[in-house]
Amino acid sequence: MILQRPSTHKETARNKLLPQKIGLFVWRANLERLPVRVELDKRGIDLDSVRCPICNNDIETVAHILLHCSFAKDLWSRVFRWWNLNRPMYANMGKMFQGNRNALSSQTSKLWQSVEWVCGYIIWRNRNLNAFQKKKGNGPTALNEVQLKSYERISRRSKELAMEWNQ
Ligand SMILES: [Zn+2]
Repeated sequence: MILQRPSTHKETARNKLLPQKIGLFVWRANLERLPVRVELDKRGIDLDSVRCPICNNDIETVAHILLHCSFAKDLWSRVFRWWNLNRPMYANMGKMFQGNRNALSSQTSKLWQSVEWVCGYIIWRNRNLNAFQKKKGNGPTALNEVQLKSYERISRRSKELAMEWNQ
């Protein structure tokens, strides 16, 4: 099967600072192709519920789990606060992973995009731990993980950006 993707998404799935599996995750998220319950249901997979495995308050769509669910909202606010940025309202996933922020220099934008991607990836991993192993994550620990993981990846791949990060 050939997956078509709109050209606007081209840039969002490539970030040289991060491992390919995170790029793949972002690419799938942008196309709403993560195996959330609504998508599984559409494919005829028999599920007990299509509601969110974390909050049970809404139908589980990609936007819900990555943006609107309580865990995601809390973690995004923490990440935005850590970066001293105002949190925009994202209309869709594509906007979210672009990393472009007027307030940031292009170097810093690269760092910010990496942080966004790692954050999304950690939200998704937390969702899976919750759905399959009934493990509940918490905001402060998850923020810590976003910070450590993004710094670790960035410093491994770019000395220059790691220095910028330190500043
Ligand atoms: Zn939820």
